[in-house]
Amino acid sequence: MSGIDAVLGARLRTIEAQDRLRRRVPRVHHGAHVVSGGKRLLNFCSNDYLGLATERYPQRAAGSGASALVTGYSPEVAELESAIADYLGRERALVFSSGFAANIGVIDALIGKNDLAVCDALNHASLIDGVRLSGARKVIVPHADIDAMAAALAQSTAGQRLLVSDAVFSMDGDCADAVTLAEVAQQADAWLMLDDAHGFGVMGDGGRGVAARLDQTQLPVLMGTLGKSVGASGAFVAGSGALIDYLVNRARTQIFSTAMAPATALAANAGLSAVRSDDWRREQLFERIGEFQRGVARLGLNVVPSNTPIQPVLIGRDADALLASRVLEEAGCLVAAIRPPTVPEGTARLRITLSAAHSKADIEALLLALARIAE
Ligand SMILES: *Cc1c(COP(=O)(O)O)cnc(C)c1O
Repeated sequence: MSGIDAVLGARLRTIEAQDRLRRRVPRVHHGAHVVSGGKRLLNFCSNDYLGLATERYPQRAAGSGASALVTGYSPEVAELESAIADYLGRERALVFSSGFAANIGVIDALIGKNDLAVCDALNHASLIDGVRLSGARKVIVPHADIDAMAAALAQSTAGQRLLVSDAVFSMDGDCADAVTLAEVAQQADAWLMLDDAHGFGVMGDGGRGVAARLDQTQLPVLMGTLGKSVGASGAFVAGSGALIDYLVNRARTQIFSTAMAPATALAANAGLSAVRSDDWRREQLFERIGEFQRGVARLGLNVVPSNTPIQPVLIGRDADALLASRVLEEAGCLVAAIRPPTVPEGTARLRITLSAAHSKADIEALLLALARIAE
């Protein structure tokens, strides 16, 4: 049993001893009834006040009627969670309605005011807010500074220590050194949480992500989203049974929020099947990335080194980034200008994201447009 399972297992036993352990039961809704395990019950605990979520199309598929612990947990979501766990080689997974909700709910549930969170300076806003909300002490280290992470963890006398990082940094496109992060966490007896929002489906063996090269012991808390490569919406946390049982009981964004709708779960499951089977999509994507990298290198622009679909071009001044974005739009290419506070002062940039949906000709059009900026 890894450290985190022992700690969370003990916390779960305390909850159980108070008769306060909660479990989700998948239920199908039919009007005023719910059916689960072959049993049909009159439902007196949904929030479907007007009967719209359960009786009429399209609400019947798009509404879950309540939070997961009450009656909102559907067989579709349960199936999605099993598929995610199976794909990633984890015991279990837990679905949230968004990545933002997953991150703040998970971090706030795992650590509190006597604990410590060590964070990369470029972590996503939702990870930052999760740490803030938890009340834990936080140390923010310079981007990718492994020594600073190790030092911050070693110096701490905090109860629990959580090392938390993006797996692919969303504005820079670079990948965290997941293997080294796991070693650093293990040496310090800290828990590692990686947010693989941009790596899941795209990077790594079979698209399992940057983070998924680590097993459940090395990386006890693996988070990913369903709104990016999977093409639906929502997010998940994957890990041990103890982790998931604990989060079901303690992640406030899970407990006090309407559950993911069956239709969303079906869409995410269909997307996940394609993610698993369609290696050609990843091959096509990485061909496009290669074409872009070779072409842009000839333009003399300040490209941030990245092997992911996120290919930023550093501009510097905010006004220049806006102007560059406008020039690209006139040339028929939509590229977002990213400015502070999303990125550090003086590092405004064009954030180019590539897709398997792009053709070789599309990349050539983009490179032609970028050549105008280079001039
Ligand atoms: C997009 C993103 C999130 C938030 O996910 P949503 O499902 O859009 O709320 C969290 N972390 C990272 C790194 C992201 O890029």
